[in-house]
Amino acid sequence: MTEIAIKNVFKEYNRNPILERVNVTLPDHEFCLILGSSGAGKSTLLRMLLSQETPSRGEILIDGEPIDVEPQADRGVVFQRYSVFPHKTVLDNVLAGPSFRESRFFGRLFGNRKAKLRDRAMELLDQVGLSDAADKYPVQLSGGMQQRLAIAQALIMEPKVLLLDEPFGALDQSTKKSMHKLILDLWNANKMTIVMVTHDIQEAFTLGTRVLMVDKQRRDPQAPEAYGSTIV
Ligand code: ADP
Ligand code: ADP
Repeated sequence: MTEIAIKNVFKEYNRNPILERVNVTLPDHEFCLILGSSGAGKSTLLRMLLSQETPSRGEILIDGEPIDVEPQADRGVVFQRYSVFPHKTVLDNVLAGPSFRESRFFGRLFGNRKAKLRDRAMELLDQVGLSDAADKYPVQLSGGMQQRLAIAQALIMEPKVLLLDEPFGALDQSTKKSMHKLILDLWNANKMTIVMVTHDIQEAFTLGTRVLMVDKQRRDPQAPEAYGSTIV
């Protein structure tokens, strides 16, 4: 069971309020879409869930525990692009998944079980439809295939939470559709909680179980910049 609780979170950059009073509880196995205009603070919220940023105020709990300031293996992430290593093969990319964040975990969990980890990586490549491409390099893959690889990479540590920042934003409509099917299948198979940022309204309302709108508060129309965004 994985519950995420965002409690009264504020985030400022150089005293500029970006997010204000964000209060959300995401129950176990939620597939939550975060929708909002450009600059609203969606990525900032996601980076706080990833421990890449800390809230200026408030706290974020996973299963009742404050999330560590250190990145953890319990969260996988996929960005719109540049999630994979160009100089590594497809298989090595999956194996290297978490090492850019916290190699200690990698060693602790899999130190003596390299073969098992490799089996798991091949299984994931199969699930995302890339088993025949294990020895290729990312440049030899289409954009959709690269995102499939990024998803496999994010899942190697079997994270409880998968964070996606506009993962399909650069893909054409038909590729996007097949990615939607893939992510729903993986979500059902792996029982994880997903939080996905998008600015595609149709995507937000057809995928997943819940939509959170992040938008500016409009308390003073004369000075909208004085306020951060919140969940509306
Ligand atoms: P979105 O993902 O909704 O497009 P972001 O979370 O990327 O929005 O950014 C929200 C606002 O915070 C923007 O005005 C952006 O310029 C600002 N911002 C984001 N990261 C930083 C940072 N590290 N330092 C200063 N300002 C930032
Ligand atoms: P996204 O495309 O996901 O919204 P951005 O391109 O806005 O992300 O931001 C990419 C990186 O640049 C982030 O690490 C963010 O913290 C940083 N950044 C964004 N806006 C600013 C800003 N105004 N000042 C400093 N850093 C920023």
